[in-house]
Amino acid sequence: MAKTQKIAAPVAGAPHAFEQTCKVFWTRSKKVGGFFSLPELTKSFPNVKRLPVSLRIVLESVLRNCDGKKVTPEHVAQLAGWKPTAARVDEIPFVVARVVLQDFTGVPLLADLAAMRNVAAEQGKNPKSIEPLVPVDLVVDHSVMIDYFGEKNALDLNMRLEFQRNHERYQFMKWGMQAFDTFGVVPPGFGIVHQVNLEYLARGVHKEAAARGQTPLYYPDSLVGTDSHTTMINGIGVVGWGVGGIEGEAAMLGQPVYFLTPDVVGFEFTGRLREGVTATDLVLTVTEILRREKVVGSFVEFFGEGTASLAVPDRATLANMAPEYGATMGFFPIDGKTLEYFEGTGRSTDEMEALEAYFTAQEMFGVPLAGQIDYTRVVSLDLGTVAPSLSGPRRPQDRIELGKVKTQFASLFSKSPAENGFNQPAGHLLTRHLVRAKDVREDVAGAPVPKTPSVQPGAPRQVVEMDANRPTLAAAQATASSEQPPVEDMTIGNGDVLIAAITSCTNTSNPSVMIAAGLLAKKAVEAGLVVHPHIKTSLAPGSRMVTEYLQKAGLLPYLEKLGFSLAAYGCTTCIGNAGDLTPEINDVINKNDLVCAAVLSGNRNFEARIHPNLKANFLASPPLVVAYAITGTVLRDLMTEPLGKGKGGRDIYLGDVWPSSSEVYALMKYAMNGKAYRQNYEKVASTPGKLWEKIQGVTGQVYNWPKSTYIARPPFFEGFTMTPGSAGTGVRQARAMALFGDSITTDHISPAGSIKEASPAGAWLKEHGVSKADFNSYGSRRGHHEVMMRGTFANVRIKNLMIPPGPDGSREEGGVTLFQPSGEKMFIYDAAMKYVAQGTPTVIFGGEEYGTGSSRDWAAKGTQLLGVKAVIVRSFERIHRSNLVGMGVLPLQFKGTDSWQSLGIRGDELFDIELQSEIRPQQDATLVITRGDGQQQRVPLILRIDTAIEVDYYKHGGILPFVLRQLLAA
Ligand code: SF4
Repeated sequence: MAKTQKIAAPVAGAPHAFEQTCKVFWTRSKKVGGFFSLPELTKSFPNVKRLPVSLRIVLESVLRNCDGKKVTPEHVAQLAGWKPTAARVDEIPFVVARVVLQDFTGVPLLADLAAMRNVAAEQGKNPKSIEPLVPVDLVVDHSVMIDYFGEKNALDLNMRLEFQRNHERYQFMKWGMQAFDTFGVVPPGFGIVHQVNLEYLARGVHKEAAARGQTPLYYPDSLVGTDSHTTMINGIGVVGWGVGGIEGEAAMLGQPVYFLTPDVVGFEFTGRLREGVTATDLVLTVTEILRREKVVGSFVEFFGEGTASLAVPDRATLANMAPEYGATMGFFPIDGKTLEYFEGTGRSTDEMEALEAYFTAQEMFGVPLAGQIDYTRVVSLDLGTVAPSLSGPRRPQDRIELGKVKTQFASLFSKSPAENGFNQPAGHLLTRHLVRAKDVREDVAGAPVPKTPSVQPGAPRQVVEMDANRPTLAAAQATASSEQPPVEDMTIGNGDVLIAAITSCTNTSNPSVMIAAGLLAKKAVEAGLVVHPHIKTSLAPGSRMVTEYLQKAGLLPYLEKLGFSLAAYGCTTCIGNAGDLTPEINDVINKNDLVCAAVLSGNRNFEARIHPNLKANFLASPPLVVAYAITGTVLRDLMTEPLGKGKGGRDIYLGDVWPSSSEVYALMKYAMNGKAYRQNYEKVASTPGKLWEKIQGVTGQVYNWPKSTYIARPPFFEGFTMTPGSAGTGVRQARAMALFGDSITTDHISPAGSIKEASPAGAWLKEHGVSKADFNSYGSRRGHHEVMMRGTFANVRIKNLMIPPGPDGSREEGGVTLFQPSGEKMFIYDAAMKYVAQGTPTVIFGGEEYGTGSSRDWAAKGTQLLGVKAVIVRSFERIHRSNLVGMGVLPLQFKGTDSWQSLGIRGDELFDIELQSEIRPQQDATLVITRGDGQQQRVPLILRIDTAIEVDYYKHGGILPFVLRQLLAA
């Protein structure tokens, strides 16, 4: 080794405490690079060589960024000395290499940065002092909706609508592109953030610019993203996970991401997947296992021979669903399969050589085998035991083997909500209901027989009589009428599949399952199977490469024939942008309280996420999505009953159309074509699209906030001073804003989907001249606090248990509360404003897993803006808890078996929260309940401010004022 080479210093001018670990490596082409050597560090900390690979990558960042201030030699020693089963008390300051954003979360983050520049300018400082210090890429993927489907130009039509609806937001992004030096945007229509990250943004290792005569310093890629499924990137050995927008902002501004030293659960795969089993089946199985194993807050690292056999797209699918299994990451080390993927997706030879040489020099190249690493504990799975599965109807971890879906649905139909059931009379299960345009009739059960036969699931493609003004249905009619004779009426019933979506980066990033879907479609069409046009079918991949290889493989026309025409490149159904069903179908569902279904290749199926009227949502592989679209109901057993009637009235079974793995493999050559990937992604800069090019943005360093119902200057810095006010004195005489049950998701707290006309946000938009048709979604209006405050706790399915149950025990849904002490029922937003006006603080009570689901900073921002001072629950989801602290809201947890229910809290009491005089992480606190009769009860709580830096954030009123004070003081 050429030890005389001078390596570019990571901390300019400062002597490095571990300078002796600075070494060099050579690539196959004899290029030299510098690096902070973990093998060298092993000489002082022998433990390092047995650390999980994911932890070693974090350790490299801690080592390299050790500046004695934010990152100290003690931090290096603590992590280098990680013990598999020690108590976790130390926090790790992790400086990431870059940040990725999606547009829903990226816009509010950009708005906060813009507001910081306003503050800087107002304080007489240089606005440029607010600048991302690491590269930031925003991929616009969350906004497009499925308004048009099942027709050839659906993509074009949906994108036009998308640009109409989001014009102001896209203008704002263009301002950001010109105002900040390190802020890039991948415009709409290229794909989904995590797939684009996997295929294009991730470069493997980073190289720091070096002065002449110096050896450039290399370091591994790492990132945080403002989206929970950022973990997909763990599939190619990149350490990264989802954080709230609030932490994302701090990371952009050069702050370390602080997290508690994690446990690392090793997951060993042995054996091979059986014929007919997909990566989706595997991930649903892993999700079920790891949910049971309780890995919340842990890293999961995959190892063993079975792991080494998995292709990168399969690994990425498994990594993507880390939030569903509760882990911070689902990590796969770098190996030859990673290099193959890099080559197949067009990375340069230099990049691949640097990746291989760097990780070899760090002794981290290759998937470890059993016994090589010390994990906190090990979980194993023989891949050969995985069976075709779906998950649902409400949670991703509720896996059902394909052959049991029918019986499971039928049994849940009449079970109570406590048993996860739908609480319907069992006798109603098979009743069909007539759907007619502009004339929705009564139940067909016992009603006169309609003039034309009703459509039954599994029957050939029929036309539904609908409002001809609706372009979607008109298009569907046009498509169908050329193939089938029109029929006037149809029926729908429980278990009917009304949305079938090939959606989500989880699966569309995986060519094997996409090709399988195409092959199944081909065989189905050739067998004469069809899909009902009233089923909302869509193909919305996370990259243009998917349609390119499906086209080249000759499969796209068959998917189109079954209604799976390309509708968008974006999140669509996965994020709740499935678009509406027809009014006629909605009416019949609502009138008859039907339990209809969506089948999607997504990763989340919480209630009301996919569509407000679809109560049963099943996650499945893309080929199974196509199969269920054909069969049209989950009340048919695909393992034993036919999918439908084919040519000549012949029964066609799933086995007749399911592709073999060799058929899939034969077409994989179309999916891995480096040149095609390069050509595609060059267009991000060269030809981003006419719609994008036409957008004119505001220019200048400081945003002037033109009037808009999408973007407004956020109020988080109102009254900002360089010295923080007093915090940490607890809460006095608070009222309960709401009492919630278990598993309240961030979507319950801050929905991303449609805005109801009769909601406070709908009323505000109407007052500001926005018609209902232009409401767009909450997700798209996250740049405007007036909408988002009103949308907080406004999910149509949220149940505030402060409202007494109805006579049948049912609970009212929607964001309402009882204003105290009068007990008057009103919207939560209205009650919040009344409490704020009279100076009454409020608290929220919840159950287990409060804040589960996607990372959503507005769930915390909205809570703060409603005047909520504390959230008291049985347990928190990781990101939401830290976001609450980041917004200056106290997260508190009951001890032992205490809950608001066990304490008899009804919502009409007064509450004090007593903190100790000096706030410390995870200290004891006390809840004092004062009941109507004056009686008091003292209840012990744990303060869930988990780390020392979070104490600082809380004292500063949140992370944003904390960071701003640091930047302006610099
Ligand atoms: S497709 Fe789904 S999982 Fe992927 S980024 Fe979009 S919303 Fe998240």
